Order: sequence, then C-alpha cells, then structure tokens
Amino acid sequence: MPNSDLEVRLISIPDNLLDIVYTACRTCYSADGAVEIYENHTNDKDKMLSLIKKVISSGHYSTIEHIQLTFAINNISRAATHQLVRHRHMSFSQKSQRYVKEKGEFDYIIPSAIKANKELCKKFELFMQDTAALYQEFIQNGIKSEDARSILPNATASSIVTSLNLRELIHLANLRLCTRAQLEIRMVVKKMCALVEEKEPWLTEHLVPKCERLGYCDEDNSCGRMKTKNG
Ligand SMILES: Cc1cc2nc3c(=O)[nH]c(=O)nc-3n(C[C@H](O)[C@H](O)[C@H](O)COP(=O)(O)OP(=O)(O)OC[C@H]3O[C@@H](n4cnc5c(N)ncnc54)[C@H](O)[C@@H]3O)c2cc1C
Repeated sequence: MPNSDLEVRLISIPDNLLDIVYTACRTCYSADGAVEIYENHTNDKDKMLSLIKKVISSGHYSTIEHIQLTFAINNISRAATHQLVRHRHMSFSQKSQRYVKEKGEFDYIIPSAIKANKELCKKFELFMQDTAALYQEFIQNGIKSEDARSILPNATASSIVTSLNLRELIHLANLRLCTRAQLEIRMVVKKMCALVEEKEPWLTEHLVPKCERLGYCDEDNSCGRMKTKNG
C-alpha cells in the first residue's frame, strides 16, 4: 500500500564537532602536539570557525573526514536507496528482502509526478496490487522470499541506516542536490543536510549543489539556474 512520508533522522553527530575539526586543522600547522592542541584549544567559536573555513576553502578536506554522521531513513524507495548505495564512502544497513517477507500488500513509494496524475496513479496502484498478489502466491507455494522478491518493483518501500563522514556528505550534497538528480533522492539528501545544518549552521554554505560550489553548471542539460562552463 502507498507508504507514509519520507522520514529522516540524524541519529549520531559528535557533540564536539568543532573541537575535532579545529584540532585537525591546527595539528597540520602547529609545532604543538595534537593532544596539547585538543586539550588547550580556544573556546572562541568565531576564531575556530575562521581557521576551519580557511582550511576547507583551500581544499584541505581530510580535516573534515574525522566527523562521522549517522542517519536512519524510513519510507524510501528501493530506487532511491540504489542511488544512495552508489556512494562508496558511505556505510549502509538496509532492510533485507531476503530475511523480511513482505506481508499482504507491500509498502511502496509513489513518485510525486505519478501521484499528480490521477488516472496514471490508479494504474500504478493496480499494478502494485497485482504484484503483491503474485508475491504472496509465490510465498504460499514455498518460494523463499529471496527469490519471490525478484518481482518487487523499484518503488518498494525500504528502511536504511547510513553513516558517512562530513567530506562525503558535502560531496553527496554537491551531486544529489543538483536539479538534474532524481526528485526522491534530492529530497532525502535535502533532509539529511537540513538536520546537520540545524546543529551546525556554518555548514549551510557547503551543503549545496555543485554549481554553487563551482560557480557554474557542468551538466550537459543545465536547468538554467547558473551559467554553464562555456557561458
Ligand atoms: C544526476 C546523476 C545521474 C546519474 N546517472 C547514472 C547513470 O545513468 N548510470 C550510473 O551507473 N550511474 C549514474 N549515476 C551515479 C554516478 O555515476 C556515481 O556512481 C554516483 O553519483 C557516486 O558518485 P561518486 O563516484 O562521485 O561518489 P562516491 O562513490 O561517494 O565517491 C566520492 C569520491 O571519491 C572518489 N572515489 C571513490 N571511489 C573511487 C575509485 N574507485 N577510484 C577513484 N576515485 C574514487 C571520487 O573522487 C569520488 O567522486 C548518476 C549520478 C547522478 C548524480
């Protein structure tokens, strides 16, 4: 059956995120040891941020790889999780279609473009109902869920826990906030970024589509929001 709305929770972010990044930055440029730098560092946030921003803008990204973030995501389609798992610096634990049998009518995500068209949406739902009936027939006839799942569509709802470091989140945002990215994954990444920005507002300027980072659009089919590479 059609699932409820996408749900994204930030379940882990270091409380001392700034201390960690600041220590990493200062360690590169100071005669003092990393331990002393961490223990004696300033608590002046503006001073810390000033150095951090300078270091990040110079492309010294290892300093933000120390920040590990974990998200729990519900009501996301398999189509979207398949795009997410292409990011090789992220870790994942996803609801298994081998160990978890879909019960009755399985949950699915209707893309908003299809939802907006009543007639097509009805056909979409009928297709899902037929698929659910066939899936149940397979299960009732002793087919294991690991094989019965072969007929489950990309729209099937999933649930996933993902962890990534801050450098990878910025990369993910650069690629997946682009209007050329598919709407659902764009919404997922937008929510992930918003949750991090709530805790660390200084990251807002980094959690942007790549055109904002580059100053131009490098896509073949530009959305027109920014000038392209060749003007
Ligand atoms: C709009 C859009 C459309 C897409 N369409 C398609 C498509 O049609 N077909 C398709 O197959 N995929 C498609 N993709 C997925 C895309 O090709 C990438 O697999 C995905 O975006 C992950 O990007 P990434 O490799 O930069 O990131 P990550 O895997 O997150 O890696 C981050 C960075 O680490 C470095 N890195 C990671 N692994 C390696 C490695 N093995 N060697 C060298 N450097 C590495 C790279 O610098 C990389 O940018 C699409 C992505 C987007 C955003």
